[in-house]
Amino acid sequence: MEFESIVLQGVDPQRPIVIAGPCSAESEEQVMEAARRLASKGIKIFRAGIWKPRTKPGGFEGVGVIGLQWLKRVKEETGMYVATEVATREHVVEALKAGVDILWIGARTTVNPFAVQEIADTLKGTDIPVLIKNPVNPDLELWIGAIERIHGAGVRRIGVIHRGFSSYDKKIYRNLPLWHIPIELRRRLPNIPIFCDPSHIGGKRELIAPLSQQAMDLSFDGLMIESHCHPDQAWSDAEQQISPDVLDYVINLLVIRDVSQTTENLSELRRQIDQIDEQLLELLAKRMRISREIGVYKKEHNMPILQSPRYSEILEKRADMGESLDLSAEFVKELLKEIHEESVRQQMIIMTND
Ligand code: PEP
Ligand code: MN
Repeated sequence: MEFESIVLQGVDPQRPIVIAGPCSAESEEQVMEAARRLASKGIKIFRAGIWKPRTKPGGFEGVGVIGLQWLKRVKEETGMYVATEVATREHVVEALKAGVDILWIGARTTVNPFAVQEIADTLKGTDIPVLIKNPVNPDLELWIGAIERIHGAGVRRIGVIHRGFSSYDKKIYRNLPLWHIPIELRRRLPNIPIFCDPSHIGGKRELIAPLSQQAMDLSFDGLMIESHCHPDQAWSDAEQQISPDVLDYVINLLVIRDVSQTTENLSELRRQIDQIDEQLLELLAKRMRISREIGVYKKEHNMPILQSPRYSEILEKRADMGESLDLSAEFVKELLKEIHEESVRQQMIIMTND
């Protein structure tokens, strides 16, 4: 697939290209205040959700078409480009009619080939840049399939947004970054611009700066960051929005490394190690959760915590498995002993609690 640059006139093509604005357009005043303050910080592309996909009914579902007039006003008064999320044919038609400059497809839409195809069909014959968020589940082929559908409609200015992937377990992030997926996407489609959305990955304000830095370190092209003038009062995603001042601070602190550096670079490898350690800890937490469930079962069935045959079997099997992965059997046994000890400790708490 061939792609054209999505660089817009007047937007500095240097990294990072920043798209910022509130999660949702709430009122004309809120939109205009955010736009003016972001424009004063040099932000050139404004985002705001007009139609909001909510997990459950009853949440704020967006203001709808009226909000498109507010985006029009943002363009007229600040000169910024404006972007919004589309999920249906009607959204696309209305957004194009209102002169929206960039469309994005949300994670809950990218998962659905029917919905993406409907958007693609509606886009035929138009030349608007489209940013495609990753699907909620970690499925690279589904993500690429959505890109192919939009490309198939003749759209050439396509970019992607990495916003992390849902998972059931308790975790540091709202959505797991699984950086290897956008990295693999870059390998498969080397010319497509990749944005990172640290707001939806992190789900918390304090994670926006480190995630943005990680994205820059992985040579992402841009960032989409949720920014609201009164983040605590936001009608959606309040915990992850930052004020325009904080956004400006975060962007100015970013270290943009020389893209010509190779991946052999040591700091790059260290970052990979950091990410793997995070994954290891999350996996351990998941293992402990299951172990606690086993503890509950043992308690209900009056079974002892220590099931020696099972423990010996685990040690032997894992040691063999480790050896086949070039890990010494001794190391694997030591590691499992430690894990098992912690597991027993957690089950003891369950046994002794009423
Ligand atoms: C959003 O950008 O506000 C949004 C709904 O994002 P996502 O599709 O990534 O959940
Ligand atoms: Mn949001």
